Amino acid sequence: MNWLTNFIPPRIRSFVGEQKEVPDNFWEKCPACEKMLFHSDLGAHYNVCHYCNHHLRLPVKERLAMLFDEGKYELIETPKVELDPLKFKDKERYTDRMKRSQAKTGLRDAITIAKGTIGGLDVVVAAFNFSFMGGSMGMAVGEGIVKGAEIAIKNKAAFIAIPASGGARMQEGMLSLIQMPRTMVAVEMVKEAKLPYIVILTDPTTGGVSASFAMVGDVHIAEPGAQIGFAGPNVIKDTVREQLPEGFQTAEHLLKHGMVDMIVKRSEMKNTLAALIGLMTQKPYTKDPKKNGKKNGEKDGAETDKGKAASGADSSKDKTKAVVEANDNERAAAGQALTQVRSAREAVKKLGKSVAERAKAGYERSEANDDREGPSTEARPAKTAEGTAQS
Ligand SMILES: [Zn+2]
Repeated sequence: MNWLTNFIPPRIRSFVGEQKEVPDNFWEKCPACEKMLFHSDLGAHYNVCHYCNHHLRLPVKERLAMLFDEGKYELIETPKVELDPLKFKDKERYTDRMKRSQAKTGLRDAITIAKGTIGGLDVVVAAFNFSFMGGSMGMAVGEGIVKGAEIAIKNKAAFIAIPASGGARMQEGMLSLIQMPRTMVAVEMVKEAKLPYIVILTDPTTGGVSASFAMVGDVHIAEPGAQIGFAGPNVIKDTVREQLPEGFQTAEHLLKHGMVDMIVKRSEMKNTLAALIGLMTQKPYTKDPKKNGKKNGEKDGAETDKGKAASGADSSKDKTKAVVEANDNERAAAGQALTQVRSAREAVKKLGKSVAERAKAGYERSEANDDREGPSTEARPAKTAEGTAQS
């Protein structure tokens, strides 16, 4: 691209020095509206296109800086796991792939666990980095979720999972699949400790991650336009041989069908989280008076948030006035809703158990009958069904 590269012989080029070349990643094209976005603009808006509001992927470091109060948080070391236990190799060794991803991202694996406050409330965040091997979930990620959940319980903090993943890490085979039930148990522990468990579904949340901890939050928040699903749309299309509805697997589609509770723009994410956790834990929280979506330290000037609490905070020198207390009705409603959701979940669990028990009893009975009457292939399923239908 550079005339230096194209027309100057190599020896002179080395003399001039290649470092002076203008980086070709100076700007990026918005994948949605195809307008040119300068990296400085993108950075200032946390990777949101300021023309069409498309949410581009956001590196973990910036996401954490965006969410935590004053951009400050404490990183939590995740337990070390055995690397490449299967000695896996496809086109490339798994260990080589890992090294490359580690060098590229500066991270040890696809998950980052951080502790801090949002709106003055204690939280533990487990965030995925999609650029680390597609955010795939292997043993290290599983360990990360478990550790995050444990730290949340220990500190009586809310647990927030932010997946961005293509699914299980196939290079770890069965060991990656077993992370699905493991992470489920981990987040179940958070719920049993009566702490909020919130999931922020970002682009993309697919595969084994969407089939485990990412879909069992107390509240499911999604970023606009995020792809959320299990198998990719093309795979499903080829399997069912039908035209898929428009917007299939987008956050908006899932909101319409009840899989997602709310779609929240990056600029409003922090205050939404503070409000949600405040309501769920019945604690007062602070709202970020700054116009969100702008990095700390950037001058907001005349831009003031129109929110009631925020304007109070802007005009007042007294910081305590920014503290928002949920009114009694809101609190009661939130508390009630949460209790209902949890008791419904318990009921489903119990029902599942009793169905399984009945099925087992029916099966054993039919086995006993089989011994007496000789083998009968039809009796077994019929009796099992009968046993379960009696409830
Ligand atoms: Zn755009």
